[in-house]
Amino acid sequence: MNVIEGRNLTKIYGKKENQTVAINHMDISVKSGEYLAITGASGSGKSTLLHLIGGLESYTDGTLMVCGKDLNMNDEALSAFRRQNIGFIYQQFHLFPQLTVYQNIVLPAMIHKNERYEQRAVELLEYLDLSDKKNALPSELSGGQQQRTAIARALITGAKMILADEPTGNLDSASAEKVKVLLEQVWKTFHITLIVVTHDLSYAQRAERRIEMCDGRILA
Ligand code: ADP
Repeated sequence: MNVIEGRNLTKIYGKKENQTVAINHMDISVKSGEYLAITGASGSGKSTLLHLIGGLESYTDGTLMVCGKDLNMNDEALSAFRRQNIGFIYQQFHLFPQLTVYQNIVLPAMIHKNERYEQRAVELLEYLDLSDKKNALPSELSGGQQQRTAIARALITGAKMILADEPTGNLDSASAEKVKVLLEQVWKTFHITLIVVTHDLSYAQRAERRIEMCDGRILA
């Protein structure tokens, strides 16, 4: 079963003479439970594609089905879709600096009014080896610990798809390796679909499948 099905997908930023075609009539299919790496030069459209799949932005033309939903929907419906289905991991972690590790992790579940989040948060803290950092602030954590917090946050609502944009781009090589292994464990343990955008070809080669983007399209 395909969990992502994009046809003739197009994203244009700006108007008239300032237009940028970020995604250019692209077809893409991703199977449920697949581990996919997306590579390509800077500006080739990788992040835009991730944003469209994750419902962070709407597309200009074409069709896009993700997790059985047609993403041609309004902003409010897109937010609900995102909260229920997608976990995001970013290069810069994007944790709230004034919230503790625990508070950062449970925030999406509280917004989603998911009542069983407390038990799940405890399990995730343990699984991600963060139990002793539960009450720490992000500034008191290493880069690897911050990214593990972001992984727990991505999993708290039971999302079945993780979209990771350069997840190891801000880490030293030892921490980067740990995060790669951890994401692969998460992929196997939770039977999620994992999509990683990376510049790092050796990282991309670990995925089940790689696609390379160029000028808003997948290279043949
Ligand atoms: P990549 O992730 O491969 O570096 P992006 O998806 O970020 O590529 O960008 C693809 C193209 O779209 C680039 O030309 C970029 O400048 C443009 N772009 C991305 N986001 C915006 C935006 N919010 N407004 C205008 N242009 C954008």
